[in-house]
Amino acid sequence: MPNAPVSAQPLAREMRTASDGEAAAPGRALAAPWLEAVHVNGRETNGAEHAIAERPSRTAAGVFRDTARTILPVEYQGREISFEAHAYEDESASYQALALVHRAPGIAKELPLVRVHSGCVTGDIFHSLRCDCYPQLQKAIDRIVDSQLGVIIYLPHHEGRGIGLVAKIKAYAAQDRGLDTVDANLSIGAPVDARDYQLAAKILKDLSFSGIRLLTNNPLKVEALQRHGIDVVEQVQHATSPSPHNARYLATKRERMAHKL
Ligand SMILES: [Zn+2]
Repeated sequence: MPNAPVSAQPLAREMRTASDGEAAAPGRALAAPWLEAVHVNGRETNGAEHAIAERPSRTAAGVFRDTARTILPVEYQGREISFEAHAYEDESASYQALALVHRAPGIAKELPLVRVHSGCVTGDIFHSLRCDCYPQLQKAIDRIVDSQLGVIIYLPHHEGRGIGLVAKIKAYAAQDRGLDTVDANLSIGAPVDARDYQLAAKILKDLSFSGIRLLTNNPLKVEALQRHGIDVVEQVQHATSPSPHNARYLATKRERMAHKL
């Protein structure tokens, strides 16, 4: 299927890709011009080699400890969507992140629609109703798949607004005793929001996306990316419907964290 578009293909089980367990033949698997070779640890390989440490990995955006990229086909609402998957490890080796790029066939120059998504094990994976992470991520995928050019940057180390999984669950327990999300964090000695956007900004620059349309309700995220050299040309509102379980969480975002909800 050499002329298949990179995105929005009908779900076709006969398609053979690298995910089927066989290496994608060069120039054959999917129409991704940059996928003439797979990048492993920041250097190119024809896929026959295993990862060999070669660090640091220098890109146009600066130094990462390590990078890799491939095509990631995903099933989404009955369709097969193929994303460019770019993985990054920061210079300190403390954080890893994934960028999924959706690029319509033949797209030349377009301002990308971007979601910088904070990882949430309870929400993203188990669809917890205590936060709005899952519906926000699904809505972001919807909008990005419908766009000409879009990217989801997924930051696992942003779990619990950057305080980590254990502290987040402790904060949930404090909320069970009546505190809102801000006071719950403070009651366990955790910051209200410990997230840093420097790695996300470096990734956007590495992808040549220095001007973006950002899907967010959080003005602090806009400011943080601007501070790290990203031109947020447009803030695109990204609200989801509240549920009985997350209504107070969303109200606290609005009333105490300046979110535009
Ligand atoms: Zn969440």
